[in-house]
Order: sequence, then C-alpha cells, then structure tokens
Amino acid sequence: MSRKVLVTGGAGYIGSHVTVELIQAGYDVVVADNMSNCDMTCLEGARKVTGRDDIPFYRIDCCNPDSVRKIFKEHRIDALIHFAAFKAVGESVNSPLKYYRNNLDSFMSVLSAAAENGGCNVLFSSSATVYGEADKQPVTEQSPRKPATSPYGATKQMCEDILQDTVKAGIGIKGMALRYFNPVGAHPSALLGELPRGVPNNLIPYVTQTAIGKRECLSIFGNDYPTPDGTCLRDFIDVVDLAKAHVAAVGRMIDGKMKEDYEIFNIGTGRPVSVLEIVKTFEKVNGLKLNYRFAGRRAGDIMAIWADPSLANEELGWKASRSLEDTLKSAWAWELHLAGKNE
Ligand code: UDP
Repeated sequence: MSRKVLVTGGAGYIGSHVTVELIQAGYDVVVADNMSNCDMTCLEGARKVTGRDDIPFYRIDCCNPDSVRKIFKEHRIDALIHFAAFKAVGESVNSPLKYYRNNLDSFMSVLSAAAENGGCNVLFSSSATVYGEADKQPVTEQSPRKPATSPYGATKQMCEDILQDTVKAGIGIKGMALRYFNPVGAHPSALLGELPRGVPNNLIPYVTQTAIGKRECLSIFGNDYPTPDGTCLRDFIDVVDLAKAHVAAVGRMIDGKMKEDYEIFNIGTGRPVSVLEIVKTFEKVNGLKLNYRFAGRRAGDIMAIWADPSLANEELGWKASRSLEDTLKSAWAWELHLAGKNE
C-alpha cells in the first residue's frame, strides 16, 4: 500500500518540488496551502510533470486547527512536511507579530492535529538562518544556534524547539528538522520554480528578472568583505536536490530508521560560492550579459555560511548532485517560461 504524505505549503516553491519528487518516488501526496504567497502555477506544474491531475488539494489556512483536522479525518497520513510559513526576512522585521502569529500558529495547529490523530512523522522545513553568524565554517548540526537576527529566523528556531519538545512528550510524534542553505533553481521541465511576488529579495530571482529586463540592474550587496572576491559566500542548493533530500528523510522516518526520535540535518552542497561567481556563471552558461553594479553591504547580511552536509550524506544516503551550471540554466529556463518566450 502506498504511503501518504501531507505537504503543507505544497503549492509554493519548495513544497511543489517536494510534491513532484515524492510522487515520482511512489508516495501519495495531499497538498494544503492557503495560497497567501503563490498562485496555482507550481501546483499545476507539479500535476503536469507527474501526470497526476488528481493530487488532492486543500485550500486551507493551517492556523485553523479544524481545517487541518479535516485532512487527518479524510486521509491516513503517514508523514507530514510542514512548509506553510511566511519567509521574507525584511518583512518579518517590520511585521514581527504577523510572522510570530502565522508561523507558530500554523505549525502548532498541524502538530496538534497530528497528535490528536495518534501521532505522525513530522518533518519541519528549517533553515541555516538558525545558525546566525557562526564562528566556524562550514557549520555542522552541532554548531551552536546564535540569537536570531530577524523574527523570521526566530520562528525557525522556535518551531524547531516546539517540534523537539513535542517529540519529547511521547505523544506519538517523531520529528526531523532539515536546515536548508540557499535553495535555488527550478525543475528541469521549467514547469515549476520560484515565483516571487513584487520585487525579489533573493539573489537568483533578482538575477533572472534583470536578465529578462523586468529589473534594470542587479545590485551586488558588498564587494569589500574579507572573502576571495570581496562578495558574500553562500551554499546554493539546487531545489530538486533539496526536494530529493525530503524523499530520503520521509523514507527514513516511515521505515523506522531514525536513530533518535528527533533528528536534524543540514541540507547543502558543502561548497561555498560567491555572489559574483553566481553572476559570472549565470552569464556564461546562459550566454548573456547581466547588468550589475557593486553596491553597499545589505544590513543584516552574514559574510559567509556554508554547510557541512556529511551527516545527511551518511545517514540519509543523500548528496547534492546537480551542477551549479545546470541549476543556473534551469533558473533561466523558468524565467523564460514565465515570460512565455520558450513556447
Ligand atoms: N544579494 C545581492 N543582491 C541581491 C540579492 C541578494 O547581492 O539583489 C546577495 C546577498 O547580499 C547575499 C546573497 O546574495 O550575500 C544571498 O542573498 P539571498 O537574499 O538570496 O539569501 P540569504 O543568504 O540572505 O538568505
């Protein structure tokens, strides 16, 4: 009998890619999303890629426990992956209550519904942001969590703690937190990808939107950092690789292979790449010139962070495999798809 995974936030950027990979690995998927930060593009893309027009979709707000309970009543859920959260760092600084209320409430109501239902395997979508400005690179799962630099980051730390405490309470919940580094790129089909609303905050959508002419010029925030080329260093993890890590993680939980009832894994490549290197590689692999300039440092930016992914490599049997070149080609193909230029 096939196993069923509830994906909250499954119509969004990462959630839709995870939905595709889970279905292609033989799982049944139920998607829940309130569509507050996306439209149906990516879920429709997931349906096309998998040939599954029948992916059950609940348009619900996970902050409402009754809505989540209804899903548990209608489906036997073996695992749930929780993506449903706000994710804009800058906005969280200006609207902290909105972030705390939404991100904590939605996770707690999902956990309550799972617990009431006799328990569940729960995978939480966490972030490298929980490490803050780490003293040593690369960061391992043992690196200390530093005080969060934004309410968004604080909600990631708090949700990790909420999950850990819920697991400890022994009410049938097993938990895992995957700490993502910088998810980038799009599905090779170009049918799903990142779809920011308004002016993008993140690097890659800003790059692709500049290349297509939606933005005039990319600002590279800071070229005076003590790094090899003066720009920041990040660990850019391809979104399909990232999605595959979720399949491995869900398999480990459902098959009872966890070593502890609460586990944490870094999901990254282990390779630091500079912002300038991203720009140069994007230009090279896509055969175009990008209008960019060096600007001042962005407030709150960390100079460098990258993962030590060896625990995930060993325990999940997962490793990032898509090249940066292919990832940046896919990001551009997605932008072209959105502009209707490759049809
Ligand atoms: N960045 C940039 N210009 C932009 C957006 C981002 O130079 O328009 C840089 C940013 O300063 C950081 C890196 O790209 O060093 C990654 O930023 P992003 O917002 O994508 O992710 P973060 O690492 O901040 O979560």
